[in-house]
Amino acid sequence: MNTHVWLIGAGPGDPELITLKAVRLLSQADVVLVDDLVNPAILDHCPQARIIRVGKRGGCRSTPQAFIQRLLLRYAKQGRRVVRLKGGDPGIFGRGGEEAAWLARHGVGCEIVCGITAGLAAASEFGIPLTLRGAARGVTLLTAHTEDGSQPNWPALVQSGTTLVLYMGVATIEQTRQRLLDGGLPAETPVAMVEAASLPTQRARVSNVGHMDQDARDFALRSPAVLIIGEVAAWCRAEDLPARSAAC
Ligand code: SAH
Repeated sequence: MNTHVWLIGAGPGDPELITLKAVRLLSQADVVLVDDLVNPAILDHCPQARIIRVGKRGGCRSTPQAFIQRLLLRYAKQGRRVVRLKGGDPGIFGRGGEEAAWLARHGVGCEIVCGITAGLAAASEFGIPLTLRGAARGVTLLTAHTEDGSQPNWPALVQSGTTLVLYMGVATIEQTRQRLLDGGLPAETPVAMVEAASLPTQRARVSNVGHMDQDARDFALRSPAVLIIGEVAAWCRAEDLPARSAAC
């Protein structure tokens, strides 16, 4: 009996930004459980599969995590080829690890297929090198949004000399601004705010730490968006973008 689930990253939105491996596995799937950040065009790769939408965007109607896990288990135990399809990469703020661990506890294996995470897509779409000799010696992917309200060690992040890529940060941008300043980041440090990266509606605005909340409001920044914080954010080609191809 097949007791395997494929945990697959669908990429950031552009349906071309998905791996060939993901496409092959989707074309062989019996059941696909899909998150709501996944571009519906990706589902063209699995017309034969039963599609179950289990989106859970912040503030919207959502499918409880326990229910999703039980569905995965039930279909896997029935011997179906089950794909769990998530936006970006399943292991980056996607609860992929939790699902894999839970399935393992119930005797179901999990094969993970990586996807392009939103922060990387946001940077490349707007010409931002996330690491750059002399300016950023690394990159940190983080979120200010946690279930228990705990915060990362902001001063340590500021001192790390890495570019910070903040996920799920729109609603709390004002607090983040203050925490970065309190952590010692100069107010003039550039911040690129990138919305809907890799989609036809993508847009970006360059600001700085001191004004990021004000500028996000003026720009009407909406989720899904990432904030890229650090010297390299000044490379953001927000204004002179060529039109995106019609693939999306
Ligand atoms: N697993 C996903 C992240 C899921 S958390 C990944 O690897 O990309 C959801 C957050 O991802 C959003 O709140 C936003 O911060 C970010 N995000 C997802 N898609 C995005 C996109 N196309 N453009 C900008 N940010 C995006």
